Amino acid sequence: MTGPDAAPALVLNADFRPLSYFPLSLWSWQDAVKAVFLDRVNIVSEYDTTVRSPSFEMRLPSVIALKEYVHQSRRPAFTRFNVFLRDRFSCQYCAERFPTQELTFDHVIPRSRGGRTSWENVVTACGACNLFKGNHMPRDIGMIPITAPKQPSAYELQQCGRGFPPNYLHESWRDYLYWDIELEQDGFGDDLTRITALSPAF
Ligand SMILES: [Zn+2]
Repeated sequence: MTGPDAAPALVLNADFRPLSYFPLSLWSWQDAVKAVFLDRVNIVSEYDTTVRSPSFEMRLPSVIALKEYVHQSRRPAFTRFNVFLRDRFSCQYCAERFPTQELTFDHVIPRSRGGRTSWENVVTACGACNLFKGNHMPRDIGMIPITAPKQPSAYELQQCGRGFPPNYLHESWRDYLYWDIELEQDGFGDDLTRITALSPAF
């Protein structure tokens, strides 16, 4: 990062999903700063680079989210990031909050017992709880998710996002884009092609 010109902002919809992947939705730093002043976006993450004028100084946004949802699909994407966000980065068994790299996904009804990979059967869990629960049915081992999992609305996800300080959620685009990769859903293939297609952007 050498100067403001090398600092475009990744633009996310109000459900925290990039507006588009091909091409990536990027705004120049000037457009991003203007949108911040017009109160049209929330700053999700910032660069270290600052811009200043006689009257103000601000760090340039690296990731911004539109306040008003632009309708592209009916529901939030079923992604790793959105599952963590729905569960507020907290283990749904011990209620502790962890950094993303220490969080895992748990199938409430284990896959080996016919549990599906879906909003209704996947919850955020810490490594220890996930290991302990193993292939047990929730009631057999007394581990019931604190909040019954369900598909959130875009509005609910946005409310979850507001509960975190801007730099908590994302350290970089790479993190964001990685977490936004769609989880493998039953009946659909792995989305590896998308990961591959995105990597040159890093
Ligand atoms: Zn836990």
